[in-house]
Amino acid sequence: MKTFTGKLLRINLNASTYREEEIPDRYYKEFISARGLSVKYLYDELKANLDPLAPENKLIMSIGILGGTGLQGFSKWCVASKSPLTGTVFRAITGGNFGVWMKFAGYDLIIIEGKAHRPSYVHIDRESVSFLDAEDFMGLDPRQLQRRLKEKHGPQTESVCVGIAGEKLVRYAAISSGERTASRGGMGMVMGSKNLKAVSINVPIRKQTPFDKTKFHHLVKQQISILRDHPRRKNMTSIGTPYLTTVMDGLGILPFKNFQEGTIQNIDEISGDEFYKLKKLKAGCYQCMTRCGGMREVSEGPLGGTQIDGPEYETVYAFGPLLGILDKAFIINANALCDYYGLDTISTGVCIAFAFELFEKGIISASDTDGLELSWGNKKAAFSLIEKIAKRQGIGYLLGEGTKRAALDIGINSDHFAMQIKGLELPAYEPRAIKGYALSMATSNIGGSHMYGRPRDEFSGKVDRFTEKGKGASIAHVQKAQAVEDSLIACVFGNSGLDFQKYSELLMAATGINEFADTDNLLKIGERIICLERCFNVREGFRRKDDSLPKRMTSEPLRNAGSSTGQVVKDLDTLLDEYYQALGYTNEGVPTIEKLKDLGLDETIKEIHGQ
Ligand code: SF4
Repeated sequence: MKTFTGKLLRINLNASTYREEEIPDRYYKEFISARGLSVKYLYDELKANLDPLAPENKLIMSIGILGGTGLQGFSKWCVASKSPLTGTVFRAITGGNFGVWMKFAGYDLIIIEGKAHRPSYVHIDRESVSFLDAEDFMGLDPRQLQRRLKEKHGPQTESVCVGIAGEKLVRYAAISSGERTASRGGMGMVMGSKNLKAVSINVPIRKQTPFDKTKFHHLVKQQISILRDHPRRKNMTSIGTPYLTTVMDGLGILPFKNFQEGTIQNIDEISGDEFYKLKKLKAGCYQCMTRCGGMREVSEGPLGGTQIDGPEYETVYAFGPLLGILDKAFIINANALCDYYGLDTISTGVCIAFAFELFEKGIISASDTDGLELSWGNKKAAFSLIEKIAKRQGIGYLLGEGTKRAALDIGINSDHFAMQIKGLELPAYEPRAIKGYALSMATSNIGGSHMYGRPRDEFSGKVDRFTEKGKGASIAHVQKAQAVEDSLIACVFGNSGLDFQKYSELLMAATGINEFADTDNLLKIGERIICLERCFNVREGFRRKDDSLPKRMTSEPLRNAGSSTGQVVKDLDTLLDEYYQALGYTNEGVPTIEKLKDLGLDETIKEIHGQ
């Protein structure tokens, strides 16, 4: 009895075949599940320097070891692959019901390989896995498509799919699931490149039984009672992540006009409270009483007249201050348009902000932009660009490549305005105003992500956020902890009140695996996961030079940012040296042989060190 299935489903699209495989117990002990297991399979099965769009690239969908058990906020799912945006290993985590349906079907992982000969989708039911024609589904948006799949395969069907952006191979196309999206890193582009429009599941509910049922159910009850009164949970349930808008603005951390400034006049117009007023219904993921989402009405675009779950804080940033726009309705409409096409809202907004700044600086003009006046605050132009990006039309073709590739193509110093790390567009946190985050994003093995390790002590003021010295060990620690949480898929917004001691108790009761009894060992697993991710990237040629920041962060003092005004990252080298030292990496950011042995990653030594 245990809460994981011990099995994966391997789907080959070239041959329209599938098979079940056992996942060795050792893998759970060493990598837990989800993100951890995904990097293990990706490292072992992908050859170095593989084109992310080649059929040999793999897409791995997974659910956490505690998902679907009644525990609240642990039922999201993860998709991992080699990213076409960054060229690194990648994972995106999202909500919806799909992950739990995977587990009901009997799988912790689905590995999708090959490329279908024609547009296809895969349907999983009680009896078999079917490879079906998706020609009629092409061009459908995720919402319509998921409805059609329910009509065809039954109302209990849960699915994941790509929209037009995935079909058209936008480098930051998302994978949609219910009202949520696995947005970042172009996982939807990988799916689109495989001619795979959707994966659907309709199976009877089949729950796993915890190892120690009584203890586990006691812990779940305890969690529910903690959550009921937890202030953070209450705040998330009512306002959700947009509450961060005024908090970050107050700290000078919320980027304005493509990271040129750090606070915004009249920010209250797009505060969490303002978005709260527009909330029609609560929304959220399977087995989550936090339900941080909210349905809001869309007034313009193809989803006009309907309601969407959103916007999150990141989307408020990407279609608000980043573009010089303070208009709630526009932000909701832009969010809906990205959902309709299946686009990552962060990368889309940052690519548009990049184009706006190039226009401001005279590097591009209306003759390059299909006649659009890309001036700050121009909502019409921004809306039009979303559509062009999704369809890869006109300037949208170039912007659909992401800021890193677009800057290389444009030249003329345009890379100075590309707000990306390793090709991944930056989230809503100004690195100059919080140096631990600058280091965490610079060293993240998936590029400029805010979800690779959050320096909470710097936000709370426990640690000085402007100091650069002494950050290496703490950032190494939060990255290890995040790797554990992503491998359990403990939702960062829905896990209020839980700590590593509680994770350990839950894992023990759920699985009976003794290795999970020790919280230090849990952190060691986290370290193993980020180390193997780094090995994947090292094998691809990534080194210290890639652990970098946009030039603006190291050369331009931050303007108009309240207490953060004048901040700049002065000494990234020292930050990196300390971080590498804390993790046992060489000066070049490569794990040493000793470290690989210590983490039980001996099989990587030959490829990483040639011995
Ligand atoms: S807190 Fe929000 S994102 Fe997290 S599991 Fe709950 S509803 Fe989903």
